[in-house]
Amino acid sequence: MNILLLGSGGREHALAWKIAASPLVAKLWCAPGNAGIAREAECVALNVADHAAVIEFCKRNAVDLVVVGPETPLAAGIVDDLAAAGIKAFGPRKQAAQLEGSKGFTKDLCSEFNIPTGAYRRFDNANDALAYVRAQGAPIVVKADGLAAGKGVVVAMTLAEAEAAIAMMFEGAFGSAGAEVVIEEYLEGREISFFALCDGDTAIPLASAQDHKRVFDHDEGPNTGGMGAYSPTPFVTPEVHDQIMARIILPTVAGMKSRGIPFKGVLYAGVMLTAQGPKLFEYNVRFGDPECQVLMLRMMSDIVPALLAACDGQLKNFDLRWYPEPALTVVMAARGYPGDYAKGTRIDGLDEAAKVEGVEIFHAGTVAKDGAVLANGGRVLNVCAMGKTVTEARDRAYQAVDRIKWPDGFCRRDIAWQAVEAEKAKA
Ligand code: AMP
Repeated sequence: MNILLLGSGGREHALAWKIAASPLVAKLWCAPGNAGIAREAECVALNVADHAAVIEFCKRNAVDLVVVGPETPLAAGIVDDLAAAGIKAFGPRKQAAQLEGSKGFTKDLCSEFNIPTGAYRRFDNANDALAYVRAQGAPIVVKADGLAAGKGVVVAMTLAEAEAAIAMMFEGAFGSAGAEVVIEEYLEGREISFFALCDGDTAIPLASAQDHKRVFDHDEGPNTGGMGAYSPTPFVTPEVHDQIMARIILPTVAGMKSRGIPFKGVLYAGVMLTAQGPKLFEYNVRFGDPECQVLMLRMMSDIVPALLAACDGQLKNFDLRWYPEPALTVVMAARGYPGDYAKGTRIDGLDEAAKVEGVEIFHAGTVAKDGAVLANGGRVLNVCAMGKTVTEARDRAYQAVDRIKWPDGFCRRDIAWQAVEAEKAKA
C-alpha cells in the first residue's frame, strides 16, 4: 500500500514510525513532516490546507490511504474532499469533527444521549452569560465554543475570573471561535484521557493516558500543548475503563450515527473521574500529542489494518493487541515556550540518548541542516521509554534526556508523578 500521512509533530513522527513498520506498506510519504519523520517516510512540501494539491498528489502517486494527524485539516473537511475524489482517508468528516470543533455541539449530544458530563448552558451574548454565572457562582468553567488552539477554556475559581473570561471571549479574543460561549459546571476529580478507535458503527478501546499541560514541574506556569504523558494510567481501573466505554464512548458513536453523521477515526475523550463516576469534559477527534507517542509504543498489532477497518466500518470484533508495559514520554521544548523562543538552536547527543534501553525518540519541531539537527518549534523532541513499571519507564526516559546536549532546551522533571507515587505507595 501507498500511504500519505499529514502533519509535522511528534504525534506524526510516532504514527510514521508505527505505519512504516507495517509489512503492508510499500511507500510512506509525510506532508510536511520533520527531520525525524524523514527517517521513516519521504517528506513532501505539500500545503495541507490546499486540498486540491493533496488530491492531485494522491492521484499522481497512487496513494491508497491518507492518515490525517492534526485537527485543523479535519475541521476544514479534508476527509470529505478526499472521499469525493475517491481517496480513502482516516479521520472524521467535517460534520463529525464538530465533536472537537464545537463544544456546544458536544454538550447537546451528551444531553440528548444521556452521556455523563457537567451541567451547562450555551450563550451567544455576554449579558445573558454574565447573569448566568452570577446566579451559579464560582468555581465555574467558561469555554469558547470553537477551536481556539487549546486556549479557549477558563477554569474560573472566582466570579470575577468568570466575568473577565466572558468579556474577553465576547470581545473577540478568539475571533469567531468565541462568538458563542459554553458555561459549564466545574467538575472535581482526577483528569485522564481515553482513546478509542471508531468506524461509524462501533468503537474499540485504544488505551488510557494522562498528560501534563502546564509548562513547569508541580503543574505550575501557563498551559501548553502538553509537556509529557504516560499510558496506561493506573487510575483507569478495568471497572472505570468499562464505564467509559459503555457510558461515554459507545453512546457517542451511536448518537452520531443516529444523527446521520457517523464518527470514524480516533475519539479522544477528556474525562474527569468524579465521585459520581467518569464524566466527559471534552472531545478531540484525533490522537493527542504527546499521548499518541506512548500509544504507538504500546501498540503490539500492526496499525495499518486497524486504520483500514476504521475507514471501512469493520471494527466489530477487531483484535487489536497491546503491550501491557507502560510507556512514558518527556517533551523537550525550546527555552521560553509557550511564550517566545529562539529557533535554529543546535541539538546534539540524540544517537547516544536513543541507545538507552527501551527508549525511542520522536521529533516534533526539528529540521536537519548540514548534517545537524536544529530546533524549529516550541515543542521539539519527545523522549519516550517503555519499562516494566511507570517508574522504570520514567527513569529510562530521563536517562536519555540527560544524554541530549541542547542548552537551549528544557523539560519537566516530574512526568507521571501521580503514577510514580501510586507505585511507591503500593510497593
Ligand atoms: P479543554 O481545552 O477542554 O481540554 O480544557 C482545558 C482544561 O480545562 C482541561 O484539561 C481541564 O483541566 C479543564 N476543564 C475543562 N472542563 C472542565 C470542567 N467542566 N471542570 C473542571 N475542569 C475543566
